[in-house]
Amino acid sequence: MPSIFTKIINGEIPCYKIAEEEDYFAFLDINPNAKGHTLCIPKKEVDKIMDLDEETYMGLMRFSRKVGMALEAAIPCKRVGVTVIGLEVPHVHVHLIPLQSMANATFQHKESFTKSEFKEIAANIRARL
Ligand code: 5GP
Repeated sequence: MPSIFTKIINGEIPCYKIAEEEDYFAFLDINPNAKGHTLCIPKKEVDKIMDLDEETYMGLMRFSRKVGMALEAAIPCKRVGVTVIGLEVPHVHVHLIPLQSMANATFQHKESFTKSEFKEIAANIRARL
């Protein structure tokens, strides 16, 4: 059964898209730690990051850097944090999180946004790519 992220890539589940390449995809996290919290994923469905082949791993990091630079330019923050966890969704994803404080990195404090706010955030990040 395809992962929820594969369904997002295929357009079966909606998302606020940030970027897409042949092998990679980025979209806003639906339950963000902070404004602009973005997930970067390989289209190839693999559960654990250390199981990625080296080329896909390196490509994912390159793609995440590109998206992270746009994020840093679009969202006021001290820096963009990069985290890989994967305990909830078994499809490799890199969390890019604009940080104001350590609280944004803990996954214990969540922020909520309206649909139009999510759309505006995504458009602002895309404009910096
Ligand atoms: P992890 O697997 O690294 O623990 O976390 C999975 C992340 O995916 C969470 O931050 C969660 O909010 C996000 N997430 C789970 N389901 C969806 C979804 O359907 N759409 C989006 N945009 N994000 C999701």
